[in-house]
Amino acid sequence: MSNNKIESASSHDLPFLPYAENALEPVISAKTIGFHYGKHHKGYVDNLNKLIAGTEFADLPLEKIITQTAGKADKTAIFNNAAQTWNHTFYWRSLMPKGGGEPPAGLKQKIEASFGALDACKKELATAAMAQFGSGWVWLVLDGGKLKVVKTGNADVPMITGIKPLLTIDVWEHAYYLDYQNRRADYVSAVLDKLINWNFAAENLG
Ligand code: MN
Repeated sequence: MSNNKIESASSHDLPFLPYAENALEPVISAKTIGFHYGKHHKGYVDNLNKLIAGTEFADLPLEKIITQTAGKADKTAIFNNAAQTWNHTFYWRSLMPKGGGEPPAGLKQKIEASFGALDACKKELATAAMAQFGSGWVWLVLDGGKLKVVKTGNADVPMITGIKPLLTIDVWEHAYYLDYQNRRADYVSAVLDKLINWNFAAENLG
């Protein structure tokens, strides 16, 4: 999320995808990633740069833009594009080729303390994904020393309420429709079993 552009300090970059566009196949196709990263995520970054040019947000880091525009009716467009820029970067890192499986020991212990078992945690993530009406995100978060599952609608992010996100799954239709059509449950269950990046969640746990 850091900005390395010298010539234009106030513009946000589309971060590199941490793997090839076909690296998540067969769970998520290269076609889905091509549109999702190359069109949707890029679109949010481009819109954000247009919206903040010449405003008081132009030189702020992404997280600051998100927290300073959250809940402000006249800043909705900036918030939505900033939060979606952040959410997608976090989502790509929440997935990995040959993911799933067992979390690192420290995280696994924390999961068992909070949910009873890894399967119960995965089930709660899947249930939240199905319970999210319309577009949104499901998150594994750290809240007051405990791990929890939360869902947010549209562009909303847990950090605006002071909760620390550990990983996320995008449940907007554009994340799965080309591969799974209306079968959101199949997409989420395949992601949890085969792509979820527990190492990233463990890093975020600290
Ligand atoms: Mn998306």
